[in-house]
Amino acid sequence: VTTVSLRATSDRLAALGVVRPTLLVDRRRVQANLDLFAARARAAGVRLRPHVKTHQSPAIAGWQRDAGSPAITVSSLEMAAYFADQGWDDITLALPVNPRAAAAIAALARRVTLGVIVEGPSVVRTLAGPLRVWIEVDVGHHRTGVPWDDDARLVEVVAAIGAVPDLAFAGLLTHAGQSYAGDAAAVFVAARERMQRARQAIGGVGEISVGDTPGCFGEPDWRGVDEVRPGNYVFCDLMQVQAGVCPPQRVACAVACPVLATYADRVVVHGGAVHLTKERLEDANGAWYGELLTLDDAGFAALLRSRRVTGLSQEHGVIAAEGLDDELVPGDVVLVAPVHSCLTCEQFSSYRTLDGEVLPRMARG
Ligand code: PLP
Repeated sequence: VTTVSLRATSDRLAALGVVRPTLLVDRRRVQANLDLFAARARAAGVRLRPHVKTHQSPAIAGWQRDAGSPAITVSSLEMAAYFADQGWDDITLALPVNPRAAAAIAALARRVTLGVIVEGPSVVRTLAGPLRVWIEVDVGHHRTGVPWDDDARLVEVVAAIGAVPDLAFAGLLTHAGQSYAGDAAAVFVAARERMQRARQAIGGVGEISVGDTPGCFGEPDWRGVDEVRPGNYVFCDLMQVQAGVCPPQRVACAVACPVLATYADRVVVHGGAVHLTKERLEDANGAWYGELLTLDDAGFAALLRSRRVTGLSQEHGVIAAEGLDDELVPGDVVLVAPVHSCLTCEQFSSYRTLDGEVLPRMARG
């Protein structure tokens, strides 16, 4: 079954005109992912403000708008400006403010409704409005943010925001990224409790914004927060599948890789670290960087969990498998699902849909 479908997959990819590593998106699967999260947000009465760093595509952000999200999250000032130029007028820049960028932030804030995140009073004092200012809270990820139970610090930052004209306190924001390493539903529930507790400590003012894809998949009931900001849910990836966060049918982007050479024990494709990145999964058999996916008439089909890209150099990917050389020859094309879609997509300047449409991405700085 596998080899038959690899042959058919190659024919379909060749018919799409794939001659070099090409980032493909299955719009039908993306739409199913968008619909699921939009329905959860609606059911809970929560704003879904997608993080567009995953795709950085105006077209895909447009699909998210059509699914009910008129506001977005970004991870750089350049990304905020790029989406502002595309007509987005409500944007949260969810990376701690760099005081050296304060003037550029203020300039953008005069064009759109702009939110920023801070974690200390010294940075607040460098800001000029009009800005919506969120306090970033650390609920256990230990990346950035005020510890959720540091009441004094939270109160101090709220006061600092209140002391600067044209800054509006928006609320408390967290990214519970520890969900990638544990029970995602439990992480979501604990994060929500900690954020509610932190809000009590500042007198119950402001909104609560949370957002990480595993948590939002794991816990279907989002009541008790005001906003969620997942990004990766648009495409999902092997990391999410491996962690049991979502089923393989939700993987919605993959790299079409031409076959360069075949041997009895391996097939070598044009699809290396510069395409897939070195993000990896690991088990008792070793590490891997991607898994083969088949295509049928409807789009992406089966994820072949044991057909793995086990070696990478800059341009080459090695699929260690006996007998694949009977089925694939140089010039054929395979489809590789990425370990971490956000980083893989970052390697490409555009997406190709299965209808052949080309969707540009923001250019890399
Ligand atoms: N919000 C912030 C501040 C983030 O850093 C991220 C991802 O790193 C997200 C939201 C989206 O989370 P995910 O990539 O799990 O969808």
